[in-house]
Amino acid sequence: MSIRVQNIVKRFGDFVALDDVTLDFPTGELVGLLGPSGCGKTTLLRIIAGLESADRGQVFLDGGDASSAHVRERQVGFVFQHYALFRHMNVFDNVAFGLRVKPRRRRPPESEIRRRVRELLELVQLDWLAERYPPQLSGGQRQRVALARALAVEPRVLLLDEPFGALDAKVRKELRRWLRQLHDRLHITSIFVTHDQEEALEVSDRVVLMNQGRVEQVGTPEQVYEQPSTPFVYGFLGAVNLFHGRIDGQHLQVGVENLSLGQHEFQVGAEALGFVRPHELEIDTDLAQGSGLEARVERVLTLGATTRVDLVGADHAAGRHYEVELPRDRITALGLVVGQRVRLKPARIRLFSPPRPTERTPCAPDGDLVGGYGENI
Ligand code: ATP
Repeated sequence: MSIRVQNIVKRFGDFVALDDVTLDFPTGELVGLLGPSGCGKTTLLRIIAGLESADRGQVFLDGGDASSAHVRERQVGFVFQHYALFRHMNVFDNVAFGLRVKPRRRRPPESEIRRRVRELLELVQLDWLAERYPPQLSGGQRQRVALARALAVEPRVLLLDEPFGALDAKVRKELRRWLRQLHDRLHITSIFVTHDQEEALEVSDRVVLMNQGRVEQVGTPEQVYEQPSTPFVYGFLGAVNLFHGRIDGQHLQVGVENLSLGQHEFQVGAEALGFVRPHELEIDTDLAQGSGLEARVERVLTLGATTRVDLVGADHAAGRHYEVELPRDRITALGLVVGQRVRLKPARIRLFSPPRPTERTPCAPDGDLVGGYGENI
């Protein structure tokens, strides 16, 4: 089933939680709804489900206007962060619940219910735990039961609200791979809400980036990561180094230093913010070599095949932090030592105009480098 939300506005008192949101969720896709806490993801999911009504706008299911349809008529399956399993029912009965409470004329016979529950438990690889009760399960197992229970009533849409939010990092990683495989088998149109960028990029066919009740960008994981359309998206999807300067022909003048630019459409003299991912920043140990920004090595951390180098700006950029990611053998060849002065040279730099003071300031992304780099965007 396809879903379209059109010009959705939702207010809570004076607060605008969703500000004219229009989105399409094509049949069979798994779409990740990503954004910082409070940006409106859950509210949008609840409006699609029919648990919340919009102040303006419409929800279309398979092309039909379902804006006023009751939650039951929409045939959606839910999985929430806190697995609301019935503690007093075993796994089998939890999964069977949605089928057993159907009105008599739509309820399958008990033998059919049992067959379907067994099939679902096999699908989520929990058939061996059918007799257990929720408190006797791990968090990851409970979430898989919750998913089996949501699937039991054969929903046409699956809405997952931070389904792995309460689990530890390792289990989360296992479950998202598992969810992706499950979706590839079932192809139910699914919307997956998360504030974890890695999770959204790994699981989704397409990612919707939201910020302060608005859609910032929609695209495949590769598109949103490689071609972020706004500074917010850049900062939200992974680590980034920021360079604030002025355009001087083919250079970005940063203080007394300059960084080489490729093709760009900025006017000479314009103020600009340069965004560079850690793997797009090169280290040159020859300080006499022309362009680049001088910095001092603070820490060299090798984890697996890549090495992360933390640096701090020298001279006018003192106090600014930078992060470079290089293959381990490149670092060996450079022979970096802590305290060494080097030049940072972006291999690729993406320019944006700095936000005007009147513009909305983006929410600070959790744990990202943007805010921590002494530059406020
Ligand atoms: P999180 O990732 O933290 O769950 P979210 O992106 O899902 O955040 P929502 O739950 O959709 O965010 O909330 C969006 C905004 O609307 C928040 O600022 C929230 O405080 C506000 N909000 C949500 N529900 C209500 C409500 N019933 N009454 C008042 N404000 C609300």
